[in-house]
Amino acid sequence: MSTQPQNFQWQTTGLIDKNFTIKSSLTLYIIVVIAAGFFLAIFFFFLEWICQRFLRRHLPSTTLSTTTFPPQPPGLHPTIIQALPTTFYDSSTVPGSSSSADAECSICLAVYEDGDKLKILPKCHHFFHEECVDRWLHSWTACPLCRASLLDSSSAAATTSD
Ligand SMILES: [Zn+2]
Ligand SMILES: [Zn+2]
Repeated sequence: MSTQPQNFQWQTTGLIDKNFTIKSSLTLYIIVVIAAGFFLAIFFFFLEWICQRFLRRHLPSTTLSTTTFPPQPPGLHPTIIQALPTTFYDSSTVPGSSSSADAECSICLAVYEDGDKLKILPKCHHFFHEECVDRWLHSWTACPLCRASLLDSSSAAATTSD
């Protein structure tokens, strides 16, 4: 009667051993799959990193070329813009020449109305809406109509204002 439990015990150990080998091969397979996925993720991360480095290397070179050759000169200093003479539009006494072109703002193309605040450019005596020419002179240094430069006439602006 003592051989039966021994035989049973051997069978169970064999089963456990079989199960264990199946389990271990399965875990090995899972580990391999996870490792493959992990390496694939690292590979794509590395690829993205290389792409970003490549883009970063090429982007500053393009911005550098634009900064060394600016497409347009910087505008007038705000104090110079503020110093330019201003007047209020009056249809009966139009400042400067009284041609049809002087009846509308060359920047916003709106017809002047009595009481509109205008800014007169000292060199060419062209005038525009104050807010229009202020915005223009923030990025340009010349008259929007005749392109006369305002850089050297900034000091004359104070004298011609009155
Ligand atoms: Zn305007
Ligand atoms: Zn002008």
